[in-house]
Amino acid sequence: MKPFAYINPANEKDAVASLSKEYEKVLPIGGGQDLLARMKDYVTQPDRLVNVKNLDATVTRAGGGLKIGSAMKMVDVAEHAEIMRLYPAVAAAAIEVGTPQIRNQGTVGGNVNQRPRCWYFRNEEFVCYKKGGNRCFSPEGENQFHAIFGDGPSYIVHPSSLAVPFVAYDATFRLVGPRGERMVKAADYFTMPTKENVERENVLEPDELLTHVILPAPGAVKSGHYEVRYKASHDWPIAFATVLLSMNGSTVQGARVVMGAVAPVPWRAKAAEQALVGKTITPDVAVAAAEAALTGADPMSRNAYKVPVAKTAVERAILQAAGLPIV
Ligand SMILES: Cc1cc2nc3c(=O)[nH]c(=O)nc-3n(C[C@H](O)[C@H](O)[C@H](O)COP(=O)(O)OP(=O)(O)OC[C@H]3O[C@@H](n4cnc5c(N)ncnc54)[C@H](O)[C@@H]3O)c2cc1C
Repeated sequence: MKPFAYINPANEKDAVASLSKEYEKVLPIGGGQDLLARMKDYVTQPDRLVNVKNLDATVTRAGGGLKIGSAMKMVDVAEHAEIMRLYPAVAAAAIEVGTPQIRNQGTVGGNVNQRPRCWYFRNEEFVCYKKGGNRCFSPEGENQFHAIFGDGPSYIVHPSSLAVPFVAYDATFRLVGPRGERMVKAADYFTMPTKENVERENVLEPDELLTHVILPAPGAVKSGHYEVRYKASHDWPIAFATVLLSMNGSTVQGARVVMGAVAPVPWRAKAAEQALVGKTITPDVAVAAAEAALTGADPMSRNAYKVPVAKTAVERAILQAAGLPIV
């Protein structure tokens, strides 16, 4: 590993002052599980790390919702009584991340900002778009776990489990930098790759930190969160979905359907939402909405299997949200 300096700031102001205007030169470190692995693999070689575990790690009330400090550990998110009560899909996503050890070490800020798991990106031999190269290796290569939505030029899937319910619940991220703070909706934080920004997955500037996730008052929504994995533990999901339903009696008044591990960003399925509004949820309605969610999927040579898997995740998350048995 390349030698690096380590800064241990006591507060947010000092942490921001330690960052750099240049991408990848100075990086914040939370639990270090993603960052140190990339450094050991020579994928990232920063000059300096800035410890952000001293930032806010608490949950406070904010305008009927909750404000989660980015230094909070995932295990604490998963077990927090108010998060479980108000935002069960966030707690459900957190409890399924990795393993107990990973959840004990990993922070909210690190989870949301972790870099893609693509094996070409993670291998120093492959200089892909994300590392300043001029191609994505997955379309002609091993694309089993890559995107089925989005037209490239990079076909990574976003690796964060928490990002999906954060988008579904319409969370706002508080970012802090030398120019002060700015609030960015989770849905606007994650960016689709373009030729210009293909090396990034979000709008965070190199001299900014994510300090808080602010979840608005959820209202009377019912939620479902369903993940499909090869292994029950120690792995990322193949596809997953968060579904929120606001009901008027037994009729769906509003719906949010967001899929994970299918695109470079948490993927909102508006067609599925439209297929749910005005309906009473039955198994057939859930199947039709799941079909709608996958309309437009464009798999590559080895990942077509993800289409039915994602469909199942959406269907089951809908049934779960409606309190119906998963058959
Ligand atoms: C076997 C295995 C299975 C896993 N399964 C899952 C899974 O199912 N779902 C899932 O979501 N993840 C999964 N993970 C990934 C794991 O959850 C992440 O690596 C972890 O959440 C990262 O958190 P961290 O605090 O250790 O991040 P770090 O490694 O400290 O940071 C990750 C990145 O975020 C940046 N960063 C950290 N904090 C901030 C901040 N406050 N502001 C701005 N940038 C910041 C860092 O600079 C770095 O680039 C798995 C990992 C392993 C090893």
